[in-house]
Amino acid sequence: SRADKMNLVIQKIRSFPDFPSKGILFRDVCPILKDPKALTAVIDLFEEHVRQTYTQVDLIVGIDARGFLFGPLLAQRLGIGLALIRKKGKLPGPTVSVAYSLEYGKAEAEMQVDAVEPGQKVLLIDDLLATGGTLYAACELLRKRQAEVLGCLVLVQLTDLDGAQRLKPVSVFSLTEY
Ligand code: AMP
Repeated sequence: SRADKMNLVIQKIRSFPDFPSKGILFRDVCPILKDPKALTAVIDLFEEHVRQTYTQVDLIVGIDARGFLFGPLLAQRLGIGLALIRKKGKLPGPTVSVAYSLEYGKAEAEMQVDAVEPGQKVLLIDDLLATGGTLYAACELLRKRQAEVLGCLVLVQLTDLDGAQRLKPVSVFSLTEY
């Protein structure tokens, strides 16, 4: 059932205090990858949400780095393609980029200009939503390329940081919240 799958996933998320810096409670999704049942449950739950919520999705966009772990599996399950948004300097050829700040530090996100076609309906995926800075920057990149952002998918949402508020009107779907 849905609840069984949810429990399987939640059980596999570990917490590390003061990583990568003091005051950050790091939520680690790596144990999910060690358990094929838990990994399948993640993709099942995302797939179910997407099929129930959207009549058409053209592309999944995975966010560097842990969005790359789950994005391709979901895209393949849905029978659609995947685009990558990476930290600056990793992608060859013509790119678009945007600078942003995150829960710990600063960064620049980059995407190949041909990763997405104008008018495509896309869903973003990452492991975790904290302040929303990363996914907000990703949305900006997609808007620069005239894609339509339908929503964001994350395994974990840290509700105290109001990331979902920042991303509005783009919706956020999370498997678990802390
Ligand atoms: P933000 O841009 O503030 O929403 O931060 C989200 C990005 O930083 C995601 O790519 C996460 O992987 C990572 N991140 C931020 N805070 C945490 C945390 N407490 N535990 C694990 N990852 C985090």
